[in-house]
Amino acid sequence: MSDTVKIVRTVSDLRKVTAKWRGRGHTIGLIPTMGALHSGHLSLVRLAKKKVDRAVVSIFVNPTQFAVNEDLSRYPRDEAGDLKKLAGADADLVWAPSVEEMYPEGHSTGIRAGSAAKDLEGVFRPQHFDGVATVCAKLFNQVTPDIAIFGEKDFQQLTVLRQMVRDLDMSLKLIGAPTKRDTDGLALSSRNAYLSLSERKVAPSLYAVISALAEDAANGADMLTTIANAKRKLTTAGFTKIDYVEIRDAETLEPGSTASGRPLRVLAACWLGKTRLIDNVAV
Ligand code: AMP
Repeated sequence: MSDTVKIVRTVSDLRKVTAKWRGRGHTIGLIPTMGALHSGHLSLVRLAKKKVDRAVVSIFVNPTQFAVNEDLSRYPRDEAGDLKKLAGADADLVWAPSVEEMYPEGHSTGIRAGSAAKDLEGVFRPQHFDGVATVCAKLFNQVTPDIAIFGEKDFQQLTVLRQMVRDLDMSLKLIGAPTKRDTDGLALSSRNAYLSLSERKVAPSLYAVISALAEDAANGADMLTTIANAKRKLTTAGFTKIDYVEIRDAETLEPGSTASGRPLRVLAACWLGKTRLIDNVAV
């Protein structure tokens, strides 16, 4: 394992590396990230290295997926730290384009995310998934990976991207990886860095509450009642605002019911002061 990882910043340099690999018959996996890496991100890199010969990690804080009132300007960035961590995880290449390289003057084409984008996050972050889908389509065209790995942490994002790959006949395979959590259950997230000490103590309740909700739903509890209970518990724990707590069909994200016999997912988003946390679990 090397103690450094090569970084490229232009599409043309990226293509030189990937062409060389392709010439040798190597398979390629892409792990798209926005940097400020934690062990959740690194678990995706390790998974990639089990499945393909070369792992490319993109680091790009994509402005088009942030609304004007969101945290783009304060989003944590630590490229030097990220490179060290990625060398330790045996990544083969970091793809870190500038905003100008990704969206040169005159860039105007985009993807309109499909039906899986309309609810949940889509209600609170209306343009978000169009931005995510467009940047991921560009990343897929730039890197031309055999596989791309995404975390279940962002379950709706994974669903929207699966829908895009299917609807647009993209030839890569998407792989979902389980959510890495801190020992107290809090899902690792770059945004956890925003939490104050007292907020950090409240934050694990989100996982505890949605896990209990998933168990109640699996045991046939009335959905509306048990969701209302979960919201009450979150407020009591100290969450300052709840955007949604929902039980959805795990494949389509349409409203789910235990009677359907289909896999279900609990998804939630709520606020601790100025920090918005999302999490989800299987029923
Ligand atoms: P981000 O940098 O937050 O855009 O995340 C980049 C990728 O890492 C996405 O596919 C996320 O779903 C995934 N990811 C983020 N947090 C975790 C986590 N705690 N466990 C597993 N994957 C994660």
